Amino acid sequence: MSKQKIGTRCVQGGYTPGNGEPRQIPIVQSTTFKYATSADMGALFDLEAEGYFYTRLQNPTNDYVAAKIADLEGGSAAMLTSSGQAANFFALFNICECGSHIVSSASIYGGTFNLIANTMAKMGIEVTFVAPDASREEIDAAFKDNTRAVFGETIANPALTVLDIETFAAAAHDHGVPLIIDNTFPTPVNCRPIEWGADIVTHSTTKYMDGHGAAVGGAIVDSGNFDWMAHADKFPGLTTPDESYHGIVYAEKFGQGGAFITKATAQLMRDFGCIQAPMNAYLLNLGLESLHVRMKKHVENGQAVAEYLEKHPKVLKVSYSGLPSDPFYKTAQKYLPQGGCGVVSFEIDGGRAAAEEFMGKLKMIAIETHVADARSCCLNPATSTHRQMTDEQLKEAGIPAGLVRLSCGLEEKEDLIADLESALA
Ligand SMILES: *Cc1c(COP(=O)(O)O)cnc(C)c1O
Repeated sequence: MSKQKIGTRCVQGGYTPGNGEPRQIPIVQSTTFKYATSADMGALFDLEAEGYFYTRLQNPTNDYVAAKIADLEGGSAAMLTSSGQAANFFALFNICECGSHIVSSASIYGGTFNLIANTMAKMGIEVTFVAPDASREEIDAAFKDNTRAVFGETIANPALTVLDIETFAAAAHDHGVPLIIDNTFPTPVNCRPIEWGADIVTHSTTKYMDGHGAAVGGAIVDSGNFDWMAHADKFPGLTTPDESYHGIVYAEKFGQGGAFITKATAQLMRDFGCIQAPMNAYLLNLGLESLHVRMKKHVENGQAVAEYLEKHPKVLKVSYSGLPSDPFYKTAQKYLPQGGCGVVSFEIDGGRAAAEEFMGKLKMIAIETHVADARSCCLNPATSTHRQMTDEQLKEAGIPAGLVRLSCGLEEKEDLIADLESALA
C-alpha cells in the first residue's frame, strides 16, 4: 500500500496520466476494442494477455476507479459492478454454489437479506443468520461442513449496528473460509475492514462514494490475504481447472492477490454482465475525489443531530454509534475512531401517525428511499420499505412503527437541527 494519507489517495489514486495525456480519467465510451490479428484477440480470450476486448467484462475507465478503491481499502485487486446488489451477489457466488452454506450477520441491508435468504436459497445456497454482536461461541455454532463464506456489514443499513470484525474474521479463518464485509456506510475513509482481518470488501458505491445521488454502482475488493490453495477442497472454482478457459487454475495463474477478482470478471461478468457503465464510473470518481472531506462533514452532522435528538422530549430512542448511550458505542470506538457515517435513526413518541406527521412537516429534509448523499433525507420504514408488516411484526424485527431513518447530508448542522425542531414542535 502506498504511504500517502488516505485523503491524498482519494484525490490522486488509481490514475496517473503520462506526458500530454488527459488530466481527468478518460471516459472510454466504447463497447469494443480493435486488434491487428485474431491471435492478439485469442490471447485475451484465453486470459493469456492483459487488455480489453468487450465492455461487458472490463473497461479502462472502470479499472482506473477500481484501482483507486483497491488502494483506499488496502486490497490487491478490485472490480466495479452495476450496483451494490451485484457486488454482494458476485462476492458470494464467486465462492458458493448449489450445496454451499453462508454464515451471515442478521443485521444487514434489506436487499442483501432478500438476496441471501430468498434468491440464493433458490440456487441451493443455505444461510444461517447470527446477531452482529454474537459471541465467538454463537458464531462457531453456525458453521457447517459446507460453509464457504461469512458475511456482515461494518455499519448495518438501517439498523446501524456495528460489527465486531475481528471476532467474525477469527471465526471465519478458524473454519477455513473468508470473511466478506460490506463497508458501504463508513467507507474506507472511516474503516478499512482488511486491516481487521476481512478478506473481501464490498460497496454500494451508490451511497457515500458517489455521494451526490447521481449513479447506482458497486465495487468488490480482494485483500489478497486468503490462501485459497490451503483450503483447495472448499474452493474448487479457484483451485481446479476452469474448462471454459482451457483449464486455467485461477489461484495458480493469478496468485493469491489476483485469483478472486479475475475469476469474478472472467466468469460472472461474462455470464451475468452486471458491469458499471463507464460514464457512471467517471461520476463515481468525481465523488471519490472529495470523499475524505465529505465524510468528516457527514459525521459532524450525524453526531450533532444525534445529540440534539437524544435530548428531545418527543424522541423515545436514538441509534447512532457515536453516542455513549448506544449499545455499539464501544465497538465503534474500536473500529470507527473518527466516526462512522451521517445516518441516524430515532423513534418518535406516537408511532406511525406521529412519524408521518413529523416527516410531512419537514421543510428541507426530503422524504426519499435513498441515504448517504449530499442532501439530507429521511424515511419511515413502517410506511414505506416495510409497509406490508403489522405493528407487531415491525416490533419483532426491531423496527418500531415510529422509527425514522435520517441521512444527514452536507448542509450546515444548525439548519438541519432547525428543520427537525420545527417539525417536532
Ligand atoms: C444500498 C445498499 C446496498 C445495495 O446497493 P445498490 O447500489 O442499491 O444496489 C448494499 N449494501 C448496503 C449496506 C447498502 O446500503
